[in-house]
Amino acid sequence: MDDISHEPATMQLPFAQRPIVILGAGIIGCAAAHQLLQQGFSVVLVAEFLPGDQDITYASAWAGAAWHPAGGISPDQRYIQAITHRILLKMAQDPESGVSVVDVREYLEQKPGPDSAIWGKTVVQKFREMRQGEYPDNFHSAWAYQTPVTDPTLHMPYLKKKIIGMGGIFIRYQAQSLQELFGKFPESRIFINASGLGSKTLEDVKDDQCFAERGQNVFLRTDQCHTMYFRNGQEYTYIIPRPLSKGVVLGGVKQADNLSPDVDPYIAQDEIARAHRLAPDIVPSQPPVEDISHIIGIRSSRRGGYRLDSEQRGENTILSAYGFGGGGYAFSYGIADRLVKMVEKTEREKLIN
Ligand SMILES: Cc1cc2nc3c(=O)[nH]c(=O)nc-3n(C[C@H](O)[C@H](O)[C@H](O)COP(=O)(O)OP(=O)(O)OC[C@H]3O[C@@H](n4cnc5c(N)ncnc54)[C@H](O)[C@@H]3O)c2cc1C
Repeated sequence: MDDISHEPATMQLPFAQRPIVILGAGIIGCAAAHQLLQQGFSVVLVAEFLPGDQDITYASAWAGAAWHPAGGISPDQRYIQAITHRILLKMAQDPESGVSVVDVREYLEQKPGPDSAIWGKTVVQKFREMRQGEYPDNFHSAWAYQTPVTDPTLHMPYLKKKIIGMGGIFIRYQAQSLQELFGKFPESRIFINASGLGSKTLEDVKDDQCFAERGQNVFLRTDQCHTMYFRNGQEYTYIIPRPLSKGVVLGGVKQADNLSPDVDPYIAQDEIARAHRLAPDIVPSQPPVEDISHIIGIRSSRRGGYRLDSEQRGENTILSAYGFGGGGYAFSYGIADRLVKMVEKTEREKLIN
C-alpha cells in the first residue's frame, strides 16, 4: 500500500485550508467531497476502492440506482431524500453524469398508509393516481410519476473526474483505524467516516450494528429502457431503466450476512419471472441468454438505520455517515448537504470564540 503520510508544511496552517479527510470513496464519500469542494473546502479521499473499481463489497458500483421515496422514515430523513432529488434533477441536465429522469409505474399490493412512500408525491414530478384499468387488477392501486435514476457505471467515474477537477485528491489505501488517519494527516481536524461496511471492522469503530446484505440483480439489454416499474409490497420487485447503458435492471433480493460472489441461477430466474409478471411488454419470460448479465453487490446495511453524527476525539472532529443499506443513492446528496453544514458548524466553533 502507498505511504500516505502528509507532513505538514506548518502546523500553523489556517483552519479553512486544512484538508477535510474522507475515509471512503463510495457514493457517500464522493458526494460529500463534491459538495464540500463546491463550497471551497480542501478535500482528500482515502479509500481501498475507488470509482471504477468492481469489488463486490464496494456497494456503490452495483446499485440500481433509483430515487424512490423510502417508507418508514422520519420527516427529517424525507427532507434529506428530497434534497438528493433536487440535486439529481439538476445533474440530469448533463448526460455525462449518468443521471436520467424516467417515467415510473408503482403498483401497490395494499392501501398505502401514512408512513408509506406516499410522502414522495410532494417531491416527484407529474405524480398522479392511476385509474383502474391502467394497471393490473390484482393490485390495490397504482401511482405514475417521474424520478431520477443514476447509472453508477457512468456516475461514479463522472464524480471522480469532477472531484479531481475541483482540486480533490484520491489516495488508495486500506486504513486499519481512524486513529491511523489522524497520524497520517496531522494538519487536518475534520475526518468523515464514509466507509460503509468498513465501519464493522475499523479498529476504533467496530460498529456491530453494521451487516452485509447481498444483492443480486439481472441486467437485461433492451431498447425499452425508459420506464421504471416498482412493485410495492410483499413481492418486492423493481425494473430500473438505464437509458444511457441501453438496458434495465431486474431485482431484487436482500440476503443478510451472505458474501457469495457467485451467481445464484434460481434467484436470477425468479427475478426474471417476477419482472415479467410486472411488465411483460418489456421483460420476456425467457430473455435471450446473450442479452443477460448479472450484478452482484453487498449493501452496507445497519440495524437501527444509518449513522449521521459528529463526535470529538481530542482535537479532531469525526463525522460519521454510513450504513445506508439499499438507499445510499437516494440519500447521497442530501447527506452530503448535511455533512457540509456539519463541517461549517465545526469550522465556526474552532474559528470564532
Ligand atoms: C444490488 C444493489 C442495488 C441497489 N439499488 C439501490 C437503489 O436503487 N437506490 C439506492 O439509493 N441505493 C441502492 N443500493 C444501495 C447503495 O448502493 C448503497 O447504499 C451505497 O452505495 C452505499 O454507499 P457508501 O458510500 O456508504 O458505501 P460503499 O459504496 O460500499 O463505499 C465504501 C467505501 O469505503 C471504503 N472503505 C471501507 N473500509 C475501508 C478501510 N478500512 N480503508 C479504506 N477504505 C475503506 C471502500 O473502499 C469504499 O471506497 C443498491 C445496492 C446494491 C448492492
